Amino acid sequence: MKASDGQLIGYEKEGSELWLWDDLPELHMEAGYRIDRLLHYERSPYQEISVAETAAFGRMLVLDGVPQVTEKDGYIYNEMITHLAMVTHPHPRHVAMIGGGDCGPAREAAKYTEVERIDVVEIDARVSEVCRLWLNRDPSERADSLTHLHHADGAKWIRKPPVPIDVLLIDRSDPYGPSAALYTKAFYKSVYDSLSADGITVFQSGSPFFDMKGLRITTQRLRSLFPVVRTYWTAIPSFPGGMWSFTLASKGTDPLLGCMDRLPTDTRYVNKAIIPAAFELPNFIQSALD
Ligand code: SAM
Repeated sequence: MKASDGQLIGYEKEGSELWLWDDLPELHMEAGYRIDRLLHYERSPYQEISVAETAAFGRMLVLDGVPQVTEKDGYIYNEMITHLAMVTHPHPRHVAMIGGGDCGPAREAAKYTEVERIDVVEIDARVSEVCRLWLNRDPSERADSLTHLHHADGAKWIRKPPVPIDVLLIDRSDPYGPSAALYTKAFYKSVYDSLSADGITVFQSGSPFFDMKGLRITTQRLRSLFPVVRTYWTAIPSFPGGMWSFTLASKGTDPLLGCMDRLPTDTRYVNKAIIPAAFELPNFIQSALD
């Protein structure tokens, strides 16, 4: 189904039920989500944006037919992309993230008292507004007061950040449309240059089960720039296959030596045992990355 047909990408009526089908042709599968109610739909200059009340995961942000974050398991993604770098950096004062969505990682970063400024770079102003209207159920005054929201292309913004960045989170979507610029070699180099002397970055690096090639490329590009590169993984039930990877690259501290005592106490998923465990890779991932 195509938006150009006057219909929403991925949504299909089946009898009396509405379903969202995330079409994954390169994986030879589709992932289906039963929709109780379509809450919002619009086409922005960048993409088709919708918010649906799903039967399994509560509210879900969908971009061009692809689920991005859900109410019921979004906290796993937000905590896992944020805290491993935050406990590793010795003094993360300036945090930035590219790909804003519902600003979940900004709320997690704001839990650290030493953070003075958070820059969120989201190319699509409509995504920010839609998330504010439909997904902002866990607001944080501290995050709001620290956050500078930029509606800009992250690949360009990162070439001239306002201050050197201590922790930079790359919360990118799949490598199509506006996100394609966040997968180029030049972008990785700009990320390295934007970081302070002991800076750390974390890339959302995809499904190791379905896209090992993508994970390998991310790891190789980071290894060509940073002295310390470590992939870690978690389980995100609403994502295809569940298993998801992130890759951390550091100019200084090794994340295996991070200071767990700095971890905030109000996390729902991450704890002091999960952080070192997340870096333990199953053999099929480890051997592909060796
Ligand atoms: N985890 C997020 C959340 O909590 O909502 C989902 C964010 S989604 C994976 C990626 C976001 O990156 C989208 O909102 C998209 O509009 C934005 N984006 C895509 N390309 C971008 C670019 N070149 N610069 C900045 N943001 C971009």
